[in-house]
Parts: sequence; structure tokens; C-alpha cells
Amino acid sequence: MIDQKSSAPAHPSTPETVPGYVLRGLGLYELHADEILDSYQGGGRWLVPSGTDAGNVYEVRTGTRPERNRCECRGFASHGHCSHVVAAGRVAKKSAVCDGCGERVWSRELVEVGADSLSFFEGDVLCRRCAREHGEA
Ligand SMILES: [Zn+2]
Ligand SMILES: [Zn+2]
Repeated sequence: MIDQKSSAPAHPSTPETVPGYVLRGLGLYELHADEILDSYQGGGRWLVPSGTDAGNVYEVRTGTRPERNRCECRGFASHGHCSHVVAAGRVAKKSAVCDGCGERVWSRELVEVGADSLSFFEGDVLCRRCAREHGEA
């Protein structure tokens, strides 16, 4: 295959144009969201399954800023983006760390701590299990 980097359009002609790697990333997210969440290594590190090579996983780092994102796959090395980063970024955005046990869980499953809590600060978030244990739910 010929590297046609110079012929790639600098800007998509329409704002609705979604690049292929983003679509593939969203596909990975649809298929493996829970798996990726469970794989969370801490420090913004995730293990994302390969979309083409079954059984293979890539270590991805997501940062608070997009330029901090990293993936060990070959696509990222040559293009600076890939579907794995897209998938991990989406999981990162939709999940958070429980202030009770430190487990990363889906945001929709977190309970916010109220002002009258004795064990946590107001605004802390707890997974359902911790919320039950501490009588916050
Ligand atoms: Zn990748
Ligand atoms: Zn918890």
C-alpha cells in the first residue's frame, strides 16, 4: 500500500464526515464497552481489544487532553490516532472512579453523596455496592 498522506484532505468537506477510525472506535465501544471498563489499569490506562485481530489487545492511555492520548498499535504510530483511543476515550468519558472502593464504574451507576454523609464529602460519588455498605443509598 502507498502512503498517500499528502493527498489526504486537511479538513473534511462537511462537518458530519466521520473518519473511519472514529467509526471503528465506536464499533469497538459498542461491542466491548464493559470489557474495556473492567480492563482499567489506573492512571488513564486501558486495554482495548483489537477489531481485526481477535484475542489481541492494545494498551491505550487517555489523558485529560487529546494530545496526551497514546496507543501501542501501528496505526497510532503512523497517524497519531486510532480506533482504540476512540473506544477507550468514550469509556473514560462515561465512567468514573468510586470514591469508596476506587473501582472504575459507569457514571450512570454512581450515587452522589449528600450533605449529611458522615463518611464522605458532599459531591463524592459511590458505586452502588459502596453506597449500600455506607447507607448512602
Ligand atoms: Zn490503537
Ligand atoms: Zn465503590
